[in-house]
Amino acid sequence: MTNQSIALQKIQNIVGPQGWIETKGGMEPYLREWRGRYQGAAAAVISPKSTNEMARVLKICNKAGLGVVPQGGNTGLVGGGVPDFPGGDGIVISTQRLNVIRDINPLNQTMTVEAGVILAHIQQAAKDVGLLFPLSLGAEGTCCIGGNISTNAGGVQVLRYGNTRDLVLGLEVVLADGRTWDGLRSLRKDNTGYDLKHLFMGAEGSLGIITAAVLKLYSRPQAKETALCGCANAGNLLEIFQRLNTSVGNTLSAFEIMNRFSLEIAVKHVLAVNNPFENPHSQYALIELSGHDGIRSTLKYILDQALEDGLIADAFIAKSRAESDQLWAIRHAIPEAQKHEGGSIKHDISVPVSSIEEFLTRASDLVEANLPGGRICAFGHAGDGNIHFNISQPLGADTDAYLKNWDTINRIIHDLIVSIGGSFSAEHGIGQMKRGDLKRYKSDVELDLMRALKKALDPCNTMNPGKVI
Ligand SMILES: Cc1cc2nc3c(=O)[nH]c(=O)nc-3n(C[C@H](O)[C@H](O)[C@H](O)COP(=O)(O)OP(=O)(O)OC[C@H]3O[C@@H](n4cnc5c(N)ncnc54)[C@H](O)[C@@H]3O)c2cc1C
Repeated sequence: MTNQSIALQKIQNIVGPQGWIETKGGMEPYLREWRGRYQGAAAAVISPKSTNEMARVLKICNKAGLGVVPQGGNTGLVGGGVPDFPGGDGIVISTQRLNVIRDINPLNQTMTVEAGVILAHIQQAAKDVGLLFPLSLGAEGTCCIGGNISTNAGGVQVLRYGNTRDLVLGLEVVLADGRTWDGLRSLRKDNTGYDLKHLFMGAEGSLGIITAAVLKLYSRPQAKETALCGCANAGNLLEIFQRLNTSVGNTLSAFEIMNRFSLEIAVKHVLAVNNPFENPHSQYALIELSGHDGIRSTLKYILDQALEDGLIADAFIAKSRAESDQLWAIRHAIPEAQKHEGGSIKHDISVPVSSIEEFLTRASDLVEANLPGGRICAFGHAGDGNIHFNISQPLGADTDAYLKNWDTINRIIHDLIVSIGGSFSAEHGIGQMKRGDLKRYKSDVELDLMRALKKALDPCNTMNPGKVI
């Protein structure tokens, strides 16, 4: 028996039959990325039931030179949770059995959860005690909080509440060598040296496995108002954003944009998604205000003014929760709808909000020059400067041939984005997909610091090898 097979045997004994999968069919869903772009191999998929089991497993892996890939809901979009072991000899560690909400404290406004709790369950548990956990994204019924923290997920409420790292007060992490760091503090002030939790947030499982977290909860807003506006161009839309920001401040909880193509494919391909407008518009803004009872009249006043000033061509303000959900359904349907339009070359970029219009214009010109017939599906969290700038294949094109342009087009768009002070990965991370970009666009100093951290925390390269750095 090799060292590794002895290690696997010991791990199987620790996690027991309920935490052990080694059949091809059983492992399949854990080895494939949501978009189907990455497919990996592993010796086994294991699911420890406790932090203690996790620590014992990692100690064995580290000693035996067995690579591990942490995995939550496997909804990540850069191949970070899919194994990339050349010989298929590492393991996937799923957090699915670490699924306990350990504590909710309404006075502190905190919730302590294990890493495998599904995001939607956390939102519901907060709601059940009259509070709010504001992180919200299209994959919330499947993704897990450990994955959200490890990718520092963004979503649709960043404008008001920040990214995931802003919602975390404390962490429990099992390190590569099997030691456990208990940093599960519920403190809002704690200036006692380096803030270690930030190392693990956004690290995509490359430095340790998060096993639990203390999350911040918020008061629930009394009222929520949602509107969809149709505009002639992105400039108008940003003018409305500025007006809203100036008048309502952080009552503005979401400002999403969708270009005409993205809205139309959502309506065309996804059941029960409807367009409230009769006429098409070049750009749409989905706006949400969260606050006190009077915000509806404020929203109406601002949109009436924008109509009068010719900034928007049409607006629809939801009159009920159901109508608001219908507007959000359009936005959430876009990722799914793109699949029905054939191959799609994707970018998850961010720029300062003031550069969005410049980016959209210049990037569209580049697509026209380099990918004639490519159909731009641009949508996203415009209030955060984050655009998902995707390009669906020309009508009638061969999908495989089209997708061969992926790297070339990514390079062109990412060069543009970096030249105007933006980021080539706004919220999805690096994973396997953007390692080349990391090397190309980060400075030597930044790369040296990242490598030094990796070496210090994971000298044997046990944690998620082949990812990030
Ligand atoms: C339809 C759809 C919509 C989406 N919308 C958004 C959006 O609006 N904003 C956004 O930011 N993302 C979005 N995503 C991407 C994805 O949902 C997020 O990245 C999410 O946070 C991943 O969580 P997960 O549990 O699925 O993680 P996984 O995919 O399982 O893992 C993601 C990464 O984290 C690591 N990891 C997972 N759990 C742990 C852990 N406990 N400890 C250490 N490392 C761990 C993995 O190794 C991997 O590198 C979307 C995805 C889909 C499919």
